[in-house]
Amino acid sequence: MHEFSVRTKRRIEMIDITSEVSSAVRESGTERGIAVVFVPHTTAAVTINENADPDVPADILRKLADLSPERDNWRHVEGNSDAHVKSTLVGASATIIVQGAGLVLGTWQSVFFCEFDGPRSRRVYVTVIPGQ
Ligand code: ZN
Repeated sequence: MHEFSVRTKRRIEMIDITSEVSSAVRESGTERGIAVVFVPHTTAAVTINENADPDVPADILRKLADLSPERDNWRHVEGNSDAHVKSTLVGASATIIVQGAGLVLGTWQSVFFCEFDGPRSRRVYVTVIPGQ
């Protein structure tokens, strides 16, 4: 398993980690298989979406804020329930096909680390399961 850290700068943001994930896959030495990208946090997530237009991640974050607003009738005393809900909506892992020791992504796809309760230092785990 490979591990790298992400230093987030805002409470809520999406950070392109495609090159870090690609490096982890290359370093694994696995030519073909499935890469699992996992975020070991309850107020962060990982997703795959467009990075060519920065308005796309901005719109995703705005809609998540509509669905799970920071101020609401939350019970959890830490005051970050909106972040826990966003983490569950987006998800803690992504799977990506690996071929030629690289990620198989669409032209417009990037892998994003999603911060919902930053700024913090975060971890990302990547493992490659060899296969066809
Ligand atoms: Zn909490």
